[in-house]
Amino acid sequence: MGFEHGISLSLTSFRSCSECSLSERIAAGKSSCWGIKRLLSPVQHPCKVKAFKITSVLQWNRRPQLAGQVPRVVVITSGKGGVGKTTTTANIGLCLARLDFKVVAIDADVGLRNLDLLLGLENRVNYTAMEVLNGECRLDQALIRDKRWTNLELLCINKPRYKMPLGFGGKALTWLVDALKKRPEGSPDFILIDCPAGIDAGFITAITPANEAVLVTTPDITSLRDADRVTGLLECDGIKDIKMIVNRVRSDMIKGEDMMSVLDVQEMLGLPLLGVIPEDAEVIRSSLEVGGTGQHESSFGRRGACQEEFSAILGLSTRQL
Ligand code: ADP
Ligand code: MG
Repeated sequence: MGFEHGISLSLTSFRSCSECSLSERIAAGKSSCWGIKRLLSPVQHPCKVKAFKITSVLQWNRRPQLAGQVPRVVVITSGKGGVGKTTTTANIGLCLARLDFKVVAIDADVGLRNLDLLLGLENRVNYTAMEVLNGECRLDQALIRDKRWTNLELLCINKPRYKMPLGFGGKALTWLVDALKKRPEGSPDFILIDCPAGIDAGFITAITPANEAVLVTTPDITSLRDADRVTGLLECDGIKDIKMIVNRVRSDMIKGEDMMSVLDVQEMLGLPLLGVIPEDAEVIRSSLEVGGTGQHESSFGRRGACQEEFSAILGLSTRQL
């Protein structure tokens, strides 16, 4: 089923779900079902709620409506490095663009930027936010359009291997976000900010313009501890709308009690669950393909690893993102 209608992938993931098989799927650790389970009211059977959601989408035949102010400025953060922030930003960006939303993804991980690589746009970064701020180019020159999904644009802060430029902080990023809102061609629907690891200057800069946060965590104790600390910092900064994605979940390990369950993670962090992403070899394969073959466009950008999971999450909860 084509993805142009946005919600179609979530339809695909529901089709196989009957009253008796859903519990089996949840037990088997299908991530989209975990996400669904949490979003549904306990009194209704999931399949009945799904039927309602699908009907309402088909009835209006349009993308999901956004609640709240536009653009939604969402920072994707974690505290710990390597848990999947950049992967999540790229996937959410692609999914939203496919749902026909206008998206700008800002790579605020200045020192170790790689969002451009995951989106297959690394060779197109001629200008960055620094040149815009120095008056050396226009904002639209620094925005790199995705080759297939033209309503997804990437903005990098600085050239690779540069450190956080002196004088670049929360104020400068807020200025850039405001400039994006006032673009003559119209404000984007979503501005996604890929946050660097840690809780120092780069983190503070990345969260300053955001009004919501997606906290990415893996089900291990170090990642959870950092996530908890980051939640406190986000709340101190006035970001109350924080949701979490549990990434790299392995149902076989959960069954063998070698990995924390998603419920344990929820209990520890006490945050609303946006979704659960399984450990997926496709993610690693995609990144290998880029480095191995030197292709200009990554397979991640073309095919999208974990796209089904992200689509299911977004298709069900775009209002809440
Ligand atoms: P961060 O931005 O938090 O540092 P990345 O998004 O760069 O993390 O991901 C770190 C590594 O983990 C990458 O090699 C990526 O391919 C891998 N990874 C992320 N999510 C998954 C997943 N769900 N399954 C398998 N590998 C993953
Ligand atoms: Mg990263």
